[in-house]
Amino acid sequence: MSTDQLEFPWAGPPQGAAPVEPAPPERVSRPDAPAATPAAAGEDRATHRQAMQAAAEALLEDLTRRTSLIIRLHVTNNSSTMMTVQRYPEKKFAKVRLHHMFLEAPPEVRQALSEWIRKPKVPQAGEVIDAFIRAHREKIRPGRRRTVYLRTKGRYFDLQRLFDEVNAAHFDGKITAHITWGKLSSWPRRSIRYGSYMHQDNVIRIHPLLDQEFVPEFVVRYIVFHEMLHALLGVEEGPNGRRRVHPPEFKRLEAAYPDFARASAWCDDKHNFRRVLRMNR
Ligand SMILES: [Zn+2]
Repeated sequence: MSTDQLEFPWAGPPQGAAPVEPAPPERVSRPDAPAATPAAAGEDRATHRQAMQAAAEALLEDLTRRTSLIIRLHVTNNSSTMMTVQRYPEKKFAKVRLHHMFLEAPPEVRQALSEWIRKPKVPQAGEVIDAFIRAHREKIRPGRRRTVYLRTKGRYFDLQRLFDEVNAAHFDGKITAHITWGKLSSWPRRSIRYGSYMHQDNVIRIHPLLDQEFVPEFVVRYIVFHEMLHALLGVEEGPNGRRRVHPPEFKRLEAAYPDFARASAWCDDKHNFRRVLRMNR
């Protein structure tokens, strides 16, 4: 494998940190080994790096075979961007950056990666990759304290105005959460979540595909209300695919919301849902 096809800038975890898989074999085979001296730790890192290098070369070979492209692979330890690709179809060439979690991706995920490398707008591939990233979330190093950029004014709806109105009308102005439009994903989806609430940063995110002219304001307002209820009750509803958490108290309060029936009916209508999604390309 020629080195210009494989960039491997990541030197592995810092000393003293928990090992990232694949674990260095020495740790497993010599449980009675004395506490690592600085030299041994260095050796350990070197072994680890070699294992990562071999895995990266194997992945590159596999992706090359599956895509029939010349690929330059760059393995990253990013905390926010798990994958990027630059395509040069006329040269049958692609520059690919992948998080190191993909070094242990099973064949179906490698196949999805290959489809994504060749053609990024394949929803099925995106979903397989999404699920893999969710399942390996613990491998993503925590980012520096994240700055959350709040964007409240949409093209059709001003989330801050809706939030303030709902807060005054239904919560005595007590909800302290921030609100923002979420980010558009890079591939089309067969499903999206209209809203989410992250307890960690106390931020409500509303899906940007709802900022369309045909979406009734009472629907966006209801989704804002729903996420504010999560903030009130301290129940997180993150965008990471876990089951929604709606305890009885939540359902009782939600059912008392004046627009609950017509707004949830709008949201449950498949026609409306498909119409919302159609813009996502
Ligand atoms: Zn919810």
